Amino acid sequence: MKRTKIVATLGPSSIKSRVLEKMLYQGVNVFRVNFSHGSAEENRKTILKIQAILKKTKRHAAILADLQGPKLRIGTVEEGAFLDPGDLMTFTNKPCSGTKEKVFMTYDSFPKDVKVGEMILLDDGKLLMRVVSTNSKNEVIAETIQGGPLKSNKGVNLPNTRVSLPCLTDKDIYDLNIALDAGVDWVGLSFVRGKQDIKNLRKIINEKKSGAGIVAKIEKPEAVSDIDAILDETDAVMVARGDLGVEVPMESVPLIQKMIISKAISRAKPVIVATQMMESMINSLTPSRAEVNDVSCAVIDGADAVMLSAETSVGQYPVEVVEAMSKIVKASELSSVTRIKGRKPQPEDKRFVSNALCYQAAKTANLVEARSICALTFSGYSAKLISSFRPKSNVYVFTSNRSILNKLCLFWGVTGFYYNSMESTDQTFVEISKMLKSLSLIEDGDTIIQLASMPIKKRGMTNTMRIKQIGA
Ligand code: PEP
Repeated sequence: MKRTKIVATLGPSSIKSRVLEKMLYQGVNVFRVNFSHGSAEENRKTILKIQAILKKTKRHAAILADLQGPKLRIGTVEEGAFLDPGDLMTFTNKPCSGTKEKVFMTYDSFPKDVKVGEMILLDDGKLLMRVVSTNSKNEVIAETIQGGPLKSNKGVNLPNTRVSLPCLTDKDIYDLNIALDAGVDWVGLSFVRGKQDIKNLRKIINEKKSGAGIVAKIEKPEAVSDIDAILDETDAVMVARGDLGVEVPMESVPLIQKMIISKAISRAKPVIVATQMMESMINSLTPSRAEVNDVSCAVIDGADAVMLSAETSVGQYPVEVVEAMSKIVKASELSSVTRIKGRKPQPEDKRFVSNALCYQAAKTANLVEARSICALTFSGYSAKLISSFRPKSNVYVFTSNRSILNKLCLFWGVTGFYYNSMESTDQTFVEISKMLKSLSLIEDGDTIIQLASMPIKKRGMTNTMRIKQIGA
């Protein structure tokens, strides 16, 4: 069983139930519904379709609704428009049909927010411009530094500008309500700039009484600078390398990725590495050697999940790419799972006793070469904590809280099971061992670690650890 999870973005290539089911069997743990594309109603139907497949196959997978956020774009541009270095172009906030001299930009207060000298990147950074002047009202003039074809509706990145648009646009709030009503497990927040963005989203999620977790997408330089505060506030994080690699110098992305993975693990927050991981498999049946290395490095660094974007949404081989990624993940895990990661619990921790037990469970599991760590949980807290220590053994989580079973699928190494008989700790331990044995996940002679809270009926915090030899 692989421990590093796979997130697959859905789109025209993968929307058919038959394809979704195959992707699930090949190793997808999280389905990402990207609200940047398709209507809210189409995306709602996709969510319902995934839920129907999970019910039919009796498998668990999480659904991540990824909100578009304040993505900036230019309007339509006439065919063949081309910018050469030195060319001046005007960005206007009044809709117009664009030419190489003037284009519409979907950001009303751009002339107010931008300063002379700041950079404008178009089309994923293929075109580079510098602001020459702004009238602070409706027009900005910029000079082309690096030219190329100017195409309709391309994205705009402003790495130096403090964009005053809210992180949650009106469209996002509408999409969010649809996604939460449909019962998604995670919500992706794009272009996060600080912890307040996460607090604003959390307020809506709480008001809707949803248990959905927040994935903060790190793709702005401000977010990288403020990463500690963001990690403290969010439930999970994504290294969104597509936009990040445009907003910061591309050569700094690998070290930012490593830094975010390490900080997220030490806070027991799941971390997803995203974008262009298996890009060549959009059109090819085999990945490039560099892509194999990229996925492997993310696994070895300890990411909870690796993500597929265009590969599964518009690529020709949505099932084969998941299969190939699973193979790389499994092979890389053979050598990477060698030492306890995560943060050693400290006496000042709010839940020091359960934290210490989870930490010791992971250490003991490595010491006694346990086949699995089995934990009973209601909130999922102990599951995420044990997972953050990256033990060698699988982490099996038993819960009577159905609402967390799919959500847990994002956590490294964790597999969830529904279990609701809470008669006594002894009986529970016997029953969960039987359950794992019947699924051939453990066998006679295996050592396992069991964690629970005693008395079991109280559903309190984890306070008990047992080492058990199966069949002894
Ligand atoms: C990214 O920029 O890497 C990313 C995942 O964001 P999106 O696909 O939403 O643009």
